[in-house]
Parts: sequence; C-alpha cells; structure tokens
Amino acid sequence: QAKQRGRNCIVAYEQAFDRGAGERLQLVLQLREALRQEQFVLAFQLQFDRSGTPVGVESLLRWKHPERGLLAPGHFIGVCEESGLIVPIGRWVLREAARRWRMLADAGFGDLRVAVNVSAMQFQQGIADDVAAVVREFELPRGVLEIELTESVVMSNPEAAVASMQRIRGDGVCIAIDDFGTGYSSLAYLKRLPLHRLKIDRAFVRDLGTGADDETICSAIIRLAQSLGLKAIAEGVETEAQWRWLQDWGCDEVQGFLFARPMGFDDLLRQLRLRGG
Ligand code: C2E
Ligand code: MG
Ligand code: MG
Ligand code: MG
Repeated sequence: QAKQRGRNCIVAYEQAFDRGAGERLQLVLQLREALRQEQFVLAFQLQFDRSGTPVGVESLLRWKHPERGLLAPGHFIGVCEESGLIVPIGRWVLREAARRWRMLADAGFGDLRVAVNVSAMQFQQGIADDVAAVVREFELPRGVLEIELTESVVMSNPEAAVASMQRIRGDGVCIAIDDFGTGYSSLAYLKRLPLHRLKIDRAFVRDLGTGADDETICSAIIRLAQSLGLKAIAEGVETEAQWRWLQDWGCDEVQGFLFARPMGFDDLLRQLRLRGG
C-alpha cells in the first residue's frame, strides 16, 4: 500500500513536471526580472480592535505584471518558494513594509503595527539579521513590526525556531502564528514560544454565527490564546454575524473584507485620514 502510494506520488510529480516545467521556468525568469525592475508592490489590509479602532496593517505582496495586471500571491508565491526567489523577495517585502511604516508614522499614524508574512524557506535561511537591519534603518520602535509565521514553519524544527524567534523578539519585533488551527501545533511548544498573537484561519471564521461546529474551534482558539497570554485575531471576517460572534466571545482583533480590503499605500493613507486619526 505504501509502495503503491509512493509510486502514485512519483507519477503525479512527473506529470506536473512535464506539463509545467517550461512554463514554470519562464515564470521564474519573469519573477527575477520583476524584482530587478521593481514590479512588486505591497497592499495593506487594516486590522481593528474590538471597538473598531485600527491597530495595524498586514502587508500583502502584489505583482504588477506588465501584461496581466496586478497579481495576488496565489499566482506566483508557490514558484517563488520552489525556486528560492522567496528569499530575496521576502527581504524586499520586509524592508518595504518597514519603509511604509516610517511613512505612516511621519503622517501621524505611528501607533499602527505593520505585519509581514514570512515563508518557511525564508525563515529557515535566517531572518534575524535582516529584521535587525530594517529595525535600525527605519528606527522602528518596539512593537510596531510583526512577523507572521505558520505553524508548520515553527513546528518543523521548534528548537531552531525558538532561538531565531527569541532574537527577533529581542529587537522588539512581534510574532504572530498565521492560519492558526490549520496546522499541527505542539501545545507544549506553543507555551514556550515567544509569541504575541494567534491569527484564527479564515476557514474557521466562515461559519461563525450560524451555530456550526467551527464555533467550537474558534472559541477554543480564543481561550487558548487567553490562557497563554496571547492576543487572538480573526482573519477573513466578512459578515456582521461573524463579527458579533467574535465580539461576544472576546476575540481581541479582527481583519476582513467587512472592515477593509487590502489596498495600496495611498488609499490606506486616505482611509486613515478620513477616519480622522
Ligand atoms: P494570509 O497571510 O493568510 O493573508 C490573508 C489573505 O486573505 C490575503 O490574501 C487577503 O487578501 C485575504 N483576505 C483578507 N480578508 C479577507 C476576507 O474577508 N475574505 C476573503 N475571502 N479573503 C480575505 P492574499 O493577499 O491573496 O494573500 C494570500 C497569501 O499569500 C497570504 O495569506 C500569505 O500566506 C501569502 N502572502 C501574501 N503576501 C506575502 C508575502 O509578502 N510573503 C510571503 N511569504 N507570503 C505572502
Ligand atoms: Mg498573513
Ligand atoms: Mg492568514
Ligand atoms: Mg490564509
């Protein structure tokens, strides 16, 4: 059985390889060029506390493709990871997010945090030096930069992850676990990690307020966060019913289309000014 499964995997891999190898190589070359020609931009999605006050933004990578227009990461992030390009691209993202935070602060919105997603390979290559460099370059106060890691990144090598996370935290940078609940976290390790926030995955938020099973999962994650002294933030909040449920159950923060879509930096500034600081 295992042997059969192994053989199926190889077949699937070869088929995918045959079909997409040329195309994928093309994409890698285009992505490398995109980095050189500054075709990447960051979109920002606001995050809010329970009273509806903006408390942060998540930086989300976009590719201004010369022919295909603005592309979301789903179109290219997989290839960035496979090819290793995610390392230089991720470094660009980190610096760009820090630069944008400095611009926000100069405009009077320095209370906001800015979060950055970090891929497995990028984290494993070591991000502490890059983090320290941007903290210095843009004089980021403690608590304004946040790194989002997934459970699998952390749990695949928890000992190494803890060491790296402690260095990052030493520079005043917060750490959130993204898509929480979809991976496999060791609760024993979770307790030992220098974390600040658990981001409840969108998949569990979807059916909130309808009495579905996912409510049990969300309330458990909120309670887990509370008992570990962490904040809980729900992502993908789209309806009033979901928001009411999250407020009732004591979720600290929310992010989702109900409140704000990811937007360019100029739109973000305009939104913040409209809200009146
Ligand atoms: P994520 O970190 O979980 O980011 C949240 C995703 O959910 C974003 O998709 C966002 O646009 C989307 N979203 C936010 N609110 C809602 C909502 O209410 N409803 C729905 N349906 N979706 C919502 P996006 O921008 O396409 O990014 C997808 C993923 O790509 C991210 O998931 C993250 O894993 C990855 N990613 C984005 N930017 C970066 C980056 O700079 N570096 C790395 N390594 N990964 C990134
Ligand atoms: Mg994220
Ligand atoms: Mg997420
Ligand atoms: Mg997600």
